[in-house]
Amino acid sequence: MSKILKYRLKPEIALDEEAFEQFISAKVKGDTHWKLLKRSIDARSRKVQVNVEIGLYDQEDPWAIEYQKPSEDVSGKPEVIIVGAGPAGMFAALKCLEMGVKPIILERGKDVRARRRDLAAINKDHVVNPDSNYCFGEGGAGTYSDGKLYTRSKKRGDVRRILEMLVTYGSTEKILVETHPHIGTNKLPKVIADIRETILSRGGEIHFDTRVEDLIVQNGVLKGVKTASGYTFEGLGVILATGHSARDIFRLLDRHKVKIESKPFALGVRVEHPQTVIDKIQYHCDSRGEYLPAAAYSLVTQTNYQEIRRGVFSFCMCPGGFIVPAATEPGELVVNGMSPSRRDSKYANSGIVVAIENEDLEKYENNGEFRALNFQADVEKAAWRAGGETQVAPAQRLADFVSNKQSQDLPECSYQPGLNSVKFSDFLPESINQRLKNGFKDFGNKSKGYLTNEALIVGVESRTSSPIHIPRDRDTFEHIELKRLYPCGEGAGYAGGIMSAAIDGEKCAEALINQYLK
Ligand SMILES: Cc1cc2nc3c(=O)[nH]c(=O)nc-3n(C[C@H](O)[C@H](O)[C@H](O)COP(=O)(O)OP(=O)(O)OC[C@H]3O[C@@H](n4cnc5c(N)ncnc54)[C@H](O)[C@@H]3O)c2cc1C
Repeated sequence: MSKILKYRLKPEIALDEEAFEQFISAKVKGDTHWKLLKRSIDARSRKVQVNVEIGLYDQEDPWAIEYQKPSEDVSGKPEVIIVGAGPAGMFAALKCLEMGVKPIILERGKDVRARRRDLAAINKDHVVNPDSNYCFGEGGAGTYSDGKLYTRSKKRGDVRRILEMLVTYGSTEKILVETHPHIGTNKLPKVIADIRETILSRGGEIHFDTRVEDLIVQNGVLKGVKTASGYTFEGLGVILATGHSARDIFRLLDRHKVKIESKPFALGVRVEHPQTVIDKIQYHCDSRGEYLPAAAYSLVTQTNYQEIRRGVFSFCMCPGGFIVPAATEPGELVVNGMSPSRRDSKYANSGIVVAIENEDLEKYENNGEFRALNFQADVEKAAWRAGGETQVAPAQRLADFVSNKQSQDLPECSYQPGLNSVKFSDFLPESINQRLKNGFKDFGNKSKGYLTNEALIVGVESRTSSPIHIPRDRDTFEHIELKRLYPCGEGAGYAGGIMSAAIDGEKCAEALINQYLK
């Protein structure tokens, strides 16, 4: 017998482990087991409430985790080549193990531990290693992130499966319960290392410091890949899961005349408020108190510029987090955000970005399929120059930005490499600049206190999604022209975040193996 109970509780009961256990114990009788199934904070009215769902059962837990680590040894089995050890690549490898196929992952960056030194070098010495940075290395762009696990995917089965897998590889079970689950940058490396251990112990291979530099194509079929150190890897097929920042891979595909397409994406800035400002707006109180977590927000509006409407929206909001330097090459400046699991820094940051369509890039039209990528790269270079040609980032107080005034001074900020006070209008394309201003004005009207000089903007937030799409067949997942190439994850334009990239990785591996394993 099983049953679900729903309650609407005060935060001091729902979010305090002891008080919550006492509350439930008083409701549940005898030998009945209980389990927290769902928890969401409802801050729409003045009094913040927490909605919870409890599952009751007698013997067998109907909500138990179904996923089990693969057990078969795949040494000596047919091989699949996976380029990239981000969420797409790693979950593709786990699916290979499950289906009795040997995954060989080739990753240009280092393992999660060794990668830390290169992140320190970006923050302290402003040195960007083009193979090891916030985007490249084991775990991909998601490792040193907030580890938010939301997705717009409506396939609940797929989402639950990935969450169960993450729990099996060491994440807290809370991610199965929260409406907006996140893992936190301090906890993600352990999960990734556990996935790596599983892949290796079951006979798979992972080669770090191994950048793929060429394709081996024969008669319209992709046979394998060549690495920078001259090794070749061949297999049943190649899953290309290189992420949105592998510009060299897009150029490589173009050199081989593999069809790629320019893709709409979004670009803007990262805004950082004191967390207390956001808590006050979202929770309608002076202090969020002991129980409520650092508040998050999601904002969206439409703006007109030269009579063309485009969306301006918040992206990858990190409560209690940090702004980080996410460039992948020297000579460019890119920012992004991350948070630790407790989300306990003093700052709330979020990307605020403008949607960019292919038709907005007239000036770049002649660059063909690279027009969005070249636009993105030009803005990043302009930001780098504005910052002072290091990883020091251009910044402006928020209200000053909206009224086009240079800030006399800048507030404290979580961005480690440092800030340079600039006018964003001096280097951001006018269409982006105007839309951002209008967007911030609208956000200020909707959320009183948001448009304040206590906040600052830091630039530029440009790696929101891939500027290139690698087209594949809807049903087989294979590239529409080049056989045995499986474009996968965010870099190919089929995912936008950790969850959707992981789902896509599994799907590509499954499709490839079903198609080519005889
Ligand atoms: C700072 C930051 C914070 C983020 N926060 C979140 C968040 O909280 N939640 C969320 O859902 N998403 C977040 N994202 C986005 C998320 O990380 C990506 O959507 C996701 O990682 C995409 O997965 P992927 O596997 O497709 O590609 P990636 O994670 O980009 O992985 C691609 C991998 O391919 C490797 N590679 C590239 N070129 C080559 C080559 N030539 N040879 C060999 N290897 C190569 C790279 O080194 C990299 O490891 C964040 C991103 C950043 C940068």
